[in-house]
Amino acid sequence: MAEDFLLLNPGPVPVTDEVLDSMSEPMVSHRSADFEAVYERAQDALDYIFTNSTRSGASTAEEGTSLVFNGTATMGMEAAVANLVGNGGNVVSLVNGKFGRRFARIADRYADVTRVEVEWGESIPLDAVEAAITDDTDVVTMVHNETSTGLLNPAEAVGEVAAAHDATFVVDGVTSIGGDEFKIDDWNVDIAITDSQKALAAPPGVSAMYVTERVKDRIDGETAPFYEDLDWHLRKAEQHQTPFTSAVPLFRALAVAVEDIVEETMSARIERHRRQSAAFRAGFEAMGLELFANADGETELSNTLTAVSLPEAVYGDDSDAFFDGVTARNVSISGGQAHLGGQIFRVSNMGGLAPEHIVRGIRTVGEAMAD
Ligand code: PLP
Repeated sequence: MAEDFLLLNPGPVPVTDEVLDSMSEPMVSHRSADFEAVYERAQDALDYIFTNSTRSGASTAEEGTSLVFNGTATMGMEAAVANLVGNGGNVVSLVNGKFGRRFARIADRYADVTRVEVEWGESIPLDAVEAAITDDTDVVTMVHNETSTGLLNPAEAVGEVAAAHDATFVVDGVTSIGGDEFKIDDWNVDIAITDSQKALAAPPGVSAMYVTERVKDRIDGETAPFYEDLDWHLRKAEQHQTPFTSAVPLFRALAVAVEDIVEETMSARIERHRRQSAAFRAGFEAMGLELFANADGETELSNTLTAVSLPEAVYGDDSDAFFDGVTARNVSISGGQAHLGGQIFRVSNMGGLAPEHIVRGIRTVGEAMAD
């Protein structure tokens, strides 16, 4: 790979040399004190990140538990649903993109699912959410930052409706947590999920979940797949262990990455991500390009990634040459997912990017479009 390669995909994102180096340390047992210390460091930092507390790294263990899975965020999404409605129940799923759809599809396997669905990239009307959630609703699933479209869904407003009906609010914060505001308590989030390889800026392969104290008695681990039994994961997490063999190098890398976030502080990190995504948007719009998502009402554009509609000249099959032109300049960006293939491109500003990376991303897109 070229030395000046720039990874701007919405995950995996670039990681620091310290994060990479941590993975080549000698192996230890996942039942050793050495490993427990690593996991505890990760948990302390995750407590802070998940709750966006302004305190620096202080544990919020009395309010909930951070735990880490061997497995990507999809596993966390399934674990949350399966442990809450593994024997059936009523789930309301908000769908306005690929990952909202994935959450609904996971829930389909366990429960009766009511979808509140609009076109990908459109805002979900709050009155439709209010109409769908009733006192019979057990679980509400929502993707906070829809990676497939670059739209930030209104966690606070949806959480308020879920709480009013005593429904458990499960939020996929995979591309917001660690990069943008996430107020687990103020937004009535009961379970939050994120991935290592997005705004946490760690390598892919593990994911993290925050389970609030208030939801723990709703969890029934025996209804979930054996590997995802949350009662078991929570018990072990208290001892800074996992039920099964931990992916030791990935836990080490995660601990280093999340401690870097504590050092930067979430408020500075959020502010930096907002500045950088605003720069991406301004740069692309200045070229005459249009942002893909339709933010209105309660919805906002993402602060961690930008989705842009491809102009006619490089649309559909013609988009291959554009993406090849970007790659030829040692920059990696993403296209649209599923039916959005050939219609949009997506760039991420998650992690620890510097201003020159943002400028280079904008310049590269402009140059590749002009090829
Ligand atoms: N949720 C969101 C919002 C995502 O962006 C992704 C991955 O891009 C996932 C869930 C699933 O992650 P994975 O495919 O790593 O399990």
